[in-house]
Amino acid sequence: MQNSNSGKKVCIRTFGCQMNVRDSEALLGLFLEKGYKSADNPKDADVILLNTCAVRAHAEHRVRSILGSYKKLSAFSRQSSASKKNKAESRKLRADSCKIIGLIGCMAANSGKEIFERMPHVNLIVSPAKLHKIPAYIEKIKKENIRIIDLEDKEREEDFYNASYRVKPGYAQVVISTGCSNYCSYCVVPSVRGELRLRKPKDIIAEVKRNVSLGIKKITLLGQNVNDYRDKQGVNFVDLLKMVEELDGVEEIDFLTPHPKNTTKELFKLMAKSKKIRKYLHLPYQSGSDKILRLMHRGYTKKEYLALVDDYKTIVGGTIGTDIIVGFPTETEEDFLHTKDILEKVRFMGAYIFKYSPRPGTHAQKLKDDVPQRVKEKRHAELLELQKKISNA
Ligand code: SAH
Ligand code: SF4
Repeated sequence: MQNSNSGKKVCIRTFGCQMNVRDSEALLGLFLEKGYKSADNPKDADVILLNTCAVRAHAEHRVRSILGSYKKLSAFSRQSSASKKNKAESRKLRADSCKIIGLIGCMAANSGKEIFERMPHVNLIVSPAKLHKIPAYIEKIKKENIRIIDLEDKEREEDFYNASYRVKPGYAQVVISTGCSNYCSYCVVPSVRGELRLRKPKDIIAEVKRNVSLGIKKITLLGQNVNDYRDKQGVNFVDLLKMVEELDGVEEIDFLTPHPKNTTKELFKLMAKSKKIRKYLHLPYQSGSDKILRLMHRGYTKKEYLALVDDYKTIVGGTIGTDIIVGFPTETEEDFLHTKDILEKVRFMGAYIFKYSPRPGTHAQKLKDDVPQRVKEKRHAELLELQKKISNA
């Protein structure tokens, strides 16, 4: 179908978690339905969007430097130099070759105001809750030659999930909830993605059915802590999994991420019984030290975590993965050895191991970041090495 956008290209670069991967896919779907094409290279695109992660400082630094490097691509900076020479040329640039550069997602919520002021070539900044508005904002920027910043935090509109574009044939991720109200002390997610908000079971099921009608057989259910799912009618995550499992055409289901503090034996029993649910559990433990777990507000002890893993291994018998943070404030060698002990005992299939970085607005930011960088690096390297041996065994 020919429309005013045909020939226009959008490039969406994604940083961070699977939730961002799905958000970018849904957003690209909206653009494709408006006649845009997808561009891999920002140089080829009319609209460049960075869908960002604010979970670790490192990810933010990278995006800041990429954004800086886009200054030369920006029509806004080219316009101002052109307008000095030739107004007609400036108008033509506006109409034909306006490259719109957007910072969207978690970093927008975190540092959007500051970047809006410091980087005038970034002409669109949108928080995770308002991604569905982006195509309309782009039209407005093009027509009115303005900059837009929208950092509102509210319930996402269902329409956001309606497009049929999927990155991987036969596979789809389905968001069951947005935000998080767990407030782990190191984590910026509750402040950048907002409080936990549930999508309705009927909307989730409708999206899964749309996927099935597209020939998709494998589904991943996504939430920051999937176990927090419980709607006003009492439908919890295990109920939701059962509802998805019962749908004809769905052949394989998995989910990300369960939290150890409210992972139940009911979940394990369903996983054991089901022919569709993948026997893999991603169960972040973050630290093996009870003192550090308390400071992290994680809500379980080392002993309780290990008992949960035992239950999983006995009831389900599947594989397991995890996330770990080393160098959290006050972490001693003894605390670290408890973390290492869990890694040795459980024998994870894979582990994402991170060096702690303080994040703005979190509880832990108030604690002194007192583990020296070289100690963080040493502990990080030691766990990576150990996990490599376990994964290769
Ligand atoms: N909702 C998921 C993922 C959260 S973010 C969960 O609860 O498991 C992904 C991972 O990033 C976390 O599990 C944690 O290991 C890591 N992380 C979060 N904040 C961090 C910080 N400030 N410094 C280092 N790693 C962090
Ligand atoms: Fe962050 Fe904890 Fe929520 Fe995960 S459960 S998103 S680590 S606050």
